[in-house]
Parts: sequence; structure tokens; C-alpha cells
Amino acid sequence: MPRGLPSAVVRPGTAEEVRAIVAVANRHRVAVVPYGAGSGVLGGAIPLGGELCVDLKRLNRILEIDSFNGTVTVEAGINGGVLEAALRKHGLTTGHYPQSLNMSTVGGWAACRGAGQASSRYGKIEDIVLGLSVVLPTGERLVVRPVPRRAVGPSLADLFVGSEGTLGIITSVTLRVWSRPEAELGSVLVFPNHEAGLDALRRIMQAELRPAIARLYDAVESAERARGAAGFTPGQAVCFFVFSGLTKLAEIERQLALEICADVGGREIDRRPLDRWLSERFQSYSAGHVSAGSFMDTIEIAAPWRALPEMHRRISAAVKALHSEMHFGTHWSHIYPDGACQYMTLRFPAMPFEDASRLHHRMWEEVMRLCLDLGGSVSHHHGSGLFRNDWLVEELNEGHRLLQKLKDAIDPNHLMNPGKLALQ
Ligand SMILES: Cc1cc2nc3c(=O)[nH]c(=O)nc-3n(C[C@H](O)[C@H](O)[C@H](O)COP(=O)(O)OP(=O)(O)OC[C@H]3O[C@@H](n4cnc5c(N)ncnc54)[C@H](O)[C@@H]3O)c2cc1C
Repeated sequence: MPRGLPSAVVRPGTAEEVRAIVAVANRHRVAVVPYGAGSGVLGGAIPLGGELCVDLKRLNRILEIDSFNGTVTVEAGINGGVLEAALRKHGLTTGHYPQSLNMSTVGGWAACRGAGQASSRYGKIEDIVLGLSVVLPTGERLVVRPVPRRAVGPSLADLFVGSEGTLGIITSVTLRVWSRPEAELGSVLVFPNHEAGLDALRRIMQAELRPAIARLYDAVESAERARGAAGFTPGQAVCFFVFSGLTKLAEIERQLALEICADVGGREIDRRPLDRWLSERFQSYSAGHVSAGSFMDTIEIAAPWRALPEMHRRISAAVKALHSEMHFGTHWSHIYPDGACQYMTLRFPAMPFEDASRLHHRMWEEVMRLCLDLGGSVSHHHGSGLFRNDWLVEELNEGHRLLQKLKDAIDPNHLMNPGKLALQ
């Protein structure tokens, strides 16, 4: 655990102030850590010692809502929940609902390449960001104008979406927005096991259906999610669906999806577990366990459909072998025609911090090793921050060296969030 402190915290109120701060920092060779709302879980916003922390939360204005083009332009420090509430008044939504909606910023979403709970319909943030403004480490401003598509070389927006503050400070973002859905049709299904559920999700996406919510839980998580629900037997895998959009289309999509599910043994049950989840979906589940003294973490990876069942089986066995009371639960909630995100919750009981720290590290090593061996990506949406540094070279191979060369060119003095993404 790094225990550094920043040398100072500054809270600029305009993009021009950000530019001036970065220019001064560059002149005096002071490293900078961009800071959104601090909800990142991989240590990306943690100072390693002596950096200047640039807290962006005062950059919180909505600059333009253009319902005709279907875009919104905001300053990067705006809180996600505040933005959604403002869009709601116009009958609009970004479709990006991370669990941390109310404790994260739009700039943080873009910087971490995040995903919302409805990503299977609206896409990840990289599908939603149309343009952005960035203050580069040497103090210049780059504007990637929002246009529907372009073919003028590699995407510069994508250089910054996922850059985790290492290449510059994002000061404004233009996002795609949608009309709020006319209908949101929810269903809860049970499958004999999660393998059958994964098969249903694959076939649903490959049939070009687009559920707004599709969340399949393994038996461990199903037991918590569906406790007390009529029609659920422990050992089964429960799955939540919401189909949304125009009523007629949503009804047809749901009907077709339920037929696919029935084909692999899926059956609709009482929808109360979905209603409970919907009412809690923006809360942090970990608070109760952490205050009880347990150590808890979540790890999200991405993998092709073919790899997922084995990944679940082998990772579960490997981490449970580390400690007799290791809790391992999984869900799959960001699904694509070619694969899905596997989101794992790991928890072990109270113990001296040094022991917990060692166990935590071994747990990560097991998960990352198996993920890479079985053909997955080490992160789907939380990003890399500091804590995934050990695995980035293997994840990106020559690409990591290339990223460092890009950083050397954009940030010649290595002042922008050094040490994150395993970059200098
Ligand atoms: C309970 C909980 C639930 C979560 N659920 C989700 C989820 O569903 N989906 C998801 O994707 N993530 C989730 N996260 C992770 C986290 O909320 C996201 O990564 C979020 O996008 C981070 O935003 P932030 O504003 O808090 O960024 P911070 O934590 O402040 O920063 C994260 C990184 O981005 C950089 N950064 C921040 N703002 C800027 C900027 N303007 N310009 C350049 N760099 C910047 C920082 O330097 C740092 O490297 C969750 C976290 C928690 C604690």
C-alpha cells in the first residue's frame, strides 16, 4: 500500500485554471495527480508522494444539452448522479449507470474506461464519449471535436479514454444521450446452473437482442440475490433482465430472449429479487462487510464466451485454496456477442493487516495469472491504476512499450500521474 501524501491540493474552477496549474507544475517539474471523486478502486488517484493533487470537482457545469443531435457537453468534474438528474428533466439519459453513479465524475468515467450497468444496450463509456478537451502535461489544450465518426487517423479521443490521468487532464466531455425509455420490462429467470445461463446470454447477444440489464449470478451470489424468492432453489443460477426502449420493441425483445432461455432450461420466477436490486443498485455493498472487519475486494476481467466457464471454475478453486473461509462469488453483467465481463467478489475474515495484505496480493496473483493463461483481459472497466501494474506488460506485450513511447512524447518530463498504468 502506498502511503504518500500530495504536496498540495488545488481545486481549479475553470479549464483555463487547470491549464495554468499544469503549466506551472511543468515549469517547476512537479508531478500531478488528476482527482475526480476518488471512487476508483485500483489506486489511480492515490499520490505516491509529493505530487500536486488537482481536484476537479469544481469543474461541474453542464455546458450544453443538445437534444436534437442527442449530445450533452459537461465539464469533467461533474458528478454522475447530478448529470443524470439534470438530463432526466429533459427526458434524456446517457445510459451510463455505474454502481458508483453518485460518487464518481464524468471525467473519471472517461479516464478509467468505465462501464455502466446498462452497458449491454448503451455500450461502455468509450462508446458514449464523442469528444473531449484535455490539458496536456506541457500545458497546451487539445480539443477532440464531437462528431458522429471520423476517418482521419487513429482515434485521439481513445488515447485519453482509459489514460487514467497519465497523459493529461480531461476538462470537458461530450457524451451521446438517448431519450429515456418508454418501457422498462423486467424479468427474473433461474437456470439449472450458470453454464446454462452463460449459454443463454451468448445466444441472446448473438441473436442481436440488446437487454439494458442482463445480470447472471453464480450459485453463491444467486443464494444472496434470490433469497426467499418463490421458484428459486439454492444451487440454481439466477438472472435479471430488463428490456427497454419503445414498448413494442421491448416486448418483442423480451419474448425472444425468454424463448432462448427456455431452450437451455431457463424459467421465469418471482421478480422481487430484481426490484430489490433496482432499489439498491447505486449503493456500495461492501460497507457492511468491511465494517464487520472482513477484507473485501472485487476483480473484473473480460473474456470470450468459450473461456468463461473454465475461468470461473479454476479461479474459484485457486482462491478458495488460499484460505478456508474465502468467499468467492461471481456475476456476469456486461455482455457482448463475443464474450462478457466476469465480475468477482472476494472476501476473507478479519486478520492482522500484514497477513491480509499478503493474502490479498496472492489472491490477485491467482486471478490475474489464470485470466491471462485462459485468454482474458485483466480489466473490463475498473482500469489499471497502480494495483494492476504487475500484469500490464503481459496484457499488452509490445503495446505497453509503445504506450510508454507515446507518454514520453506527450509528457516528456514524466509529470502526469507517474507510476500509474505501469508508466513512468
Ligand atoms: C462501490 C463502487 C462501485 C463502483 N462501480 C463501478 C461500476 O459499476 N462501473 C465502473 O466503471 N466503475 C465502478 N467503480 C469504479 C469507479 O467508480 C470508476 O472507475 C469511476 O469512473 C471513477 O471516477 P472518479 O471520478 O471517482 O475518479 P477517481 O477515482 O478520482 O480517479 C480515477 C482515475 O482517473 C483519473 N482521473 C479522474 N478524473 C480525471 C480527469 N478529469 N482527467 C484525467 N484523469 C482523471 C485519476 O487520476 C485516476 O487515475 C466503482 C467504485 C466503487 C467504490
